[in-house]
Amino acid sequence: MSLHANLVAGEWREAGDAAADINPSDTSDVVGEYAQADGKTLQDAVAAAKAAAPGWAASTPQQRYDLLDAIGNAILARKDELGRLLSREEGKILAEGVMETVRAGQIFKFFAGEALRIAGDKIASVRPGVDVEMTREPLGVVGLITPWNFPIAIPAWKIAPALAYGNTVVFKPAGLVPGTAWALSEIIQQAGVPAGVFNLVMGRGSVIGDALLDHPDIAAVSFTGSVETGAHVAARCAARLAKFQLEMGGKNPLVVLDDADLNTAVNCAVNGAYFSTGQRCTASSRLIVTAGIHDKFVDAMASNLSSLKVDDALAEGTQIGPVVDEGQLQKDLEYVEIGKKEGARLVCGGERLQRDKDGFYMSPALFAETNNDMRINREEVFGPVATVIKVKDYDEALAVANDTAFGLSSGICTQSLKYASDFKTKSEAGMVMVNLPTAGVDYHVPFGGRKGSSYGSREQGRYAVEFYTAVKTAYTAP
Ligand code: NAD
Repeated sequence: MSLHANLVAGEWREAGDAAADINPSDTSDVVGEYAQADGKTLQDAVAAAKAAAPGWAASTPQQRYDLLDAIGNAILARKDELGRLLSREEGKILAEGVMETVRAGQIFKFFAGEALRIAGDKIASVRPGVDVEMTREPLGVVGLITPWNFPIAIPAWKIAPALAYGNTVVFKPAGLVPGTAWALSEIIQQAGVPAGVFNLVMGRGSVIGDALLDHPDIAAVSFTGSVETGAHVAARCAARLAKFQLEMGGKNPLVVLDDADLNTAVNCAVNGAYFSTGQRCTASSRLIVTAGIHDKFVDAMASNLSSLKVDDALAEGTQIGPVVDEGQLQKDLEYVEIGKKEGARLVCGGERLQRDKDGFYMSPALFAETNNDMRINREEVFGPVATVIKVKDYDEALAVANDTAFGLSSGICTQSLKYASDFKTKSEAGMVMVNLPTAGVDYHVPFGGRKGSSYGSREQGRYAVEFYTAVKTAYTAP
């Protein structure tokens, strides 16, 4: 099997060390072998990005548009193949893998357009005869660190704006999903990115992570991943006053009120909590349900969950794929035990499953009779595990929804305009959904959260300009 190399200064660079990419649906299937960068490779990648920065900063909007649009088109043209690769290495079902790939293509095309619209402001000075203008400039070299659960969409929503606004990139994908990251990097390379403008450095965070965070030539770091690693990224970047942005975990509430349409509520909850095997930062892990609909809702959830097909991500008919790896599966099962010990009632699921092929399969777990102080309601599990919290009315539901260290997304199922409007106003989350799952967002609007879920300016949409540019105010006298 050939080794997939890192991309440094426009050249594919082999490494002494390699890691195997394993299919979580079938552990006998090796997706590929991927180079593991050492410190020297990282240094060279940063040096290449630094050397390429002035040239790329001076590129015209048309050049950037052409490159990003070509990348977007190439991704869309290969959506089935890339979606398949993504599902094979990450474990989300094929339809989700293809959908995510399409989204990555759309993101590149959106930011191709944004490259044409980098505007400034001009305003009358308070002093006679003086001109004042505000412009946006690239930052220089940016370091992009991504998690394993969206192997192409998250890299896309960092790489595309970074390049659109004139920065050069050192991209470090998650160790569990190098295949999609490598394929995306090959597309970027084949689309004609100038040497050094985009560099791929694969490897473990613990090996090359700190070298990247501490590098004086990396002007800014955009990170998505766990709270623990995010806090580390923040500390290292702050220590050298580098700009940083963090997108981290969630414990997202979905409120279901008595007047909700039961089908809508169950569909939102099943989709939000369990699709993509519950491995979404926006997953609805806390289902906060008012007393009048509670029993009907729990029964309907149990019957819906028992009919879901958990199997090979690539097999036709599969609705829930495997957990990403053995470590995450053990963590999910441990939380099921914690929930039981805390006194929650396990309504269904929560067991390891055997399938034809050896993989990391787990039945979707639903807990009822939980309270918001339990660990299963306070800590992010990041697997197919959700809880029901029974509340008496809307006011209590809102209070419980907001009683969390996180604030990424939230949702409410109701037919009442009054409660929907109030929830949109008072929910302490970055994204609020009404009669929709807490996961599943548009690609052209801002994405991000509050409290322990996010730090810094928003990603995606036009708001991405805030992170990837610096503002300059220039005064001119005649
Ligand atoms: P993780 O924190 O373990 O890893 C994220 C990335 O950080 C990986 O590329 C990893 O190699 C790297 N890393 C690890 N140690 C590092 C170090 N010392 N220095 C620099 N980089 C280092 O997270 P994960 O397990 O890959 O992803 C799951 C987490 O991501 C969950 O908590 C989930 O909620 C979160 N997530 C958040 C969002 C969001 O937008 N809010 C989106 C997707 C996932």
